[in-house]
Amino acid sequence: MAFNPLNWILGFFSLDIGIDLGTANTLVHVKNKGIVINEPSWVVVNKRTREPIAVGVEAKALVGRTPANMVAVRPLRDGVISEFEITEEMLAYFIDRAHQQSIVPVPRPRVVIGVPSGVTEVEKRAVYDAAMLAGARAAYLIAEPTASALAVGLPITEIGGSMIVDIGGGTSEVTVYSHGGVVTARSLRVAGDEMDQDILQYVRNKYNLLIGERMAEQVKITIGSAYPLPEEKTTSVRGRNLVSGLPETLELSSVEIREAISGSVQTIIDTVKDTLEEVPPEIVSDLMDVGICLAGGGSLLQGLSDRISDEVRIRAWVAEDPMTCVARGAGMILERFEELSFLLLPLDSQE
Ligand code: ADP
Ligand code: MG
Repeated sequence: MAFNPLNWILGFFSLDIGIDLGTANTLVHVKNKGIVINEPSWVVVNKRTREPIAVGVEAKALVGRTPANMVAVRPLRDGVISEFEITEEMLAYFIDRAHQQSIVPVPRPRVVIGVPSGVTEVEKRAVYDAAMLAGARAAYLIAEPTASALAVGLPITEIGGSMIVDIGGGTSEVTVYSHGGVVTARSLRVAGDEMDQDILQYVRNKYNLLIGERMAEQVKITIGSAYPLPEEKTTSVRGRNLVSGLPETLELSSVEIREAISGSVQTIIDTVKDTLEEVPPEIVSDLMDVGICLAGGGSLLQGLSDRISDEVRIRAWVAEDPMTCVARGAGMILERFEELSFLLLPLDSQE
């Protein structure tokens, strides 16, 4: 390709942004800077006008505490975009903030956004439009597992097979790649959120104690596990006793929590097993070499990789910094566009 000085200068100064539009967290990666935004995918809106009042960290802090005229929304709740307009506004807010962070005035950014692999044409279009409305010069979409695999350095564009299991908030996705293409993929709506609900239900059924979703998530993060711990732990929770109606504090053990979330954990593992059954034997043999890569916040559940390794007889390992893989991988596409752009999701060309 001929050297074009104008392109070179534009490329040097332009802002290349990779975004992970997750059900639980939205992350923004900027070239040469790394992750500049990492906030919960929550928006608090005015109930009547649907006008956003708070986004991200600020919005999540309001969850369960909103005054009567406001409502806290997770626009991507189940791995799909359930609230188009709010998703658009959230995206615009984050892109704008990333753009404003540069000291010198730079051209409008190029953006690659990771979306759950099951999104529909309409949803893809909505994300694309949102990015363009937010001021992007160009916008592209990539399937989240593909972005993660790139960031992790899995050999997805080579001939051998590799597998990535991304456990997020709303969905878990199991994807097997070979030669830059998807060999087989499964997505299920059991992931981190479902475990939070399991804990909430468990505490309610066993102790008649009603705790909030955020408290349940905190319990999972502190003492949740998928495999017996070297030293079992406890943590305390606060809630409202459903019989007396009064506040109560309670100690929970990691053994109880492991039992509470065991159904969800098993469902995820069974999906990995089912996916492996569909994979041709040559690829199974490749996987026995490279192992199964775990990514997403859910992969941080203690003992999960050991448990999967035990059950499927292939070594499972957690990606480095598993919660930022999608954003970093999306950013890599722009850095090596010629070589990697074939991995982008096609968009319906109708305008
Ligand atoms: P998404 O891609 O859907 O936005 P993330 O990859 O950001 O999701 O992961 C969010 C999920 O990971 C949440 O359910 C959160 O509770 C869970 N999570 C984060 N840290 C941990 C941890 N240390 N142990 C278990 N689960 C965790
Ligand atoms: Mg994700």
